[in-house]
Amino acid sequence: MSVINSVIDKVERMDPDQHEFHQAVTEVMETLEATVQRHPEFVKAGIYEQIVEPERSVTFRVPWVDDKQRVQVNRGFRVQFNNAIGPFKGGLRFHPSVNLSIIKFLGFEQIFKNSLTTLPMGGAKGGSDFDPKGKTDGEIMRFCQAFMRELFRYIGPETDVPAGDIGVGAREIGFMYGYYKKIRNEHTGVLTGKGLEYGGSLIRPEATGYGTVYFAAEMLATRGMDLKDKRVAVSGAGNVAQFAIEKVNQMGGRVISICDSSATVIDEQGIDNDKCCYLQELKNVRRGRVSEYSDKYQTVCFEDKNVWDVIREQGIKVDIALPCATQNEIDEANAEALVKNGCVCVAEGANMPSSPEAVHVFHNNKILYGPGKAANAGGVATSGLEMSQNSSKLSWSREKVDKRLLKIMKGIHKSCLEAAEAYGMPGDYVAGANIAGFVKVARAMLAYGVL
Ligand code: NDP
Repeated sequence: MSVINSVIDKVERMDPDQHEFHQAVTEVMETLEATVQRHPEFVKAGIYEQIVEPERSVTFRVPWVDDKQRVQVNRGFRVQFNNAIGPFKGGLRFHPSVNLSIIKFLGFEQIFKNSLTTLPMGGAKGGSDFDPKGKTDGEIMRFCQAFMRELFRYIGPETDVPAGDIGVGAREIGFMYGYYKKIRNEHTGVLTGKGLEYGGSLIRPEATGYGTVYFAAEMLATRGMDLKDKRVAVSGAGNVAQFAIEKVNQMGGRVISICDSSATVIDEQGIDNDKCCYLQELKNVRRGRVSEYSDKYQTVCFEDKNVWDVIREQGIKVDIALPCATQNEIDEANAEALVKNGCVCVAEGANMPSSPEAVHVFHNNKILYGPGKAANAGGVATSGLEMSQNSSKLSWSREKVDKRLLKIMKGIHKSCLEAAEAYGMPGDYVAGANIAGFVKVARAMLAYGVL
């Protein structure tokens, strides 16, 4: 049995219930076959076996008191996957679906994503099964403080630097950073995504969405196309979706969809800048539902359906797809419908939003397909820039950070294509991203010996 198959087999045997983690490992490992031939030294040093095992994985109790004075208990996670090229780095997700499998898949992906950015950051991820929906600000604050009361033991500006993800935005980062500062009595760059007043970076909120669109533009350019006048389907309505919409508008495209976990809105007129500002206020301040957007702008709203189901069922024409909600939102039937409806490019703002079958459909139909670990790496790259600003006690201008972000996204695009070409899979962004991300980490691991 090849080393790749035996690693996949072992992962499935050791943790049979971790489906999302198996999916992520299989997707990466299958594309690393070419590196096995080229780098026998990696095989000899057991790099493939080591890279699928987290350095350290902690779960902890998070007890907190709700507004009715009842004690609630959630589970917290931090998976520190790999710190070969820099301190552990990766977001925190608060969502009721969170479990060890989801955190491990996200942490594993983060290793390669962070390596692709060219910045010195290892891979990690964390979070909790806490559901922020319907909670008051007081409850959110007490939960965040309780979460940090345990997490602080494992993190530090040179050790592990968490950031936001689903359910963790500026408000939650503020509560967690404030609590860390209080109990450690120090102001450091221990979290990224901070507010501007206390060490945050300009462009960090925008970075994942902007970066995803920059990546899409780079892919389109390889076929002499751009975003101008293109019909763009976006899923989600959170941080990544909002700023992807803003950037598509700046580049002359028209965004026709958004969704949240309760409905999809199709807006044929396009979600222009004014509507996008309304969406930001609706989601980030009032914490409302996208159905309210539909009421305000008199658009069509499909309850309990995601964007890709609606596009398939309604036969909606789409040129570019930007999935920005969650994992496995695009299944095989949705991918086939996207191809049939004219889609030429898919850039993933979310992590692993396309199922393996959907990815197959995109490949078979020669769709420009940018996997999340490359397309959405702008977020963590800008977190890396926030860390640099924190350690040098400087703040860079909006223009400077955005320019660096664009340069990094272009660099990632180039590395993907070069690695894919060098390892015999030209034009394959999945293989390119995995190989380019992996080889750098593997070389560092090799240099350390057996640790
Ligand atoms: P947010 O919490 O800000 O927004 C997530 C959005 O997706 C919300 O509108 C949410 O709906 C919607 N959503 C979540 N689950 C579902 C579902 N099952 N069906 C339909 N809609 C759903 O998170 P982010 O925007 O930060 O993250 C989105 C994705 O991007 C995730 O995959 C994340 O891992 C990835 N990502 C985020 C980065 C970042 O910098 N924030 C960096 C790189 C990747 P509702 O409002 O109902 O909750």
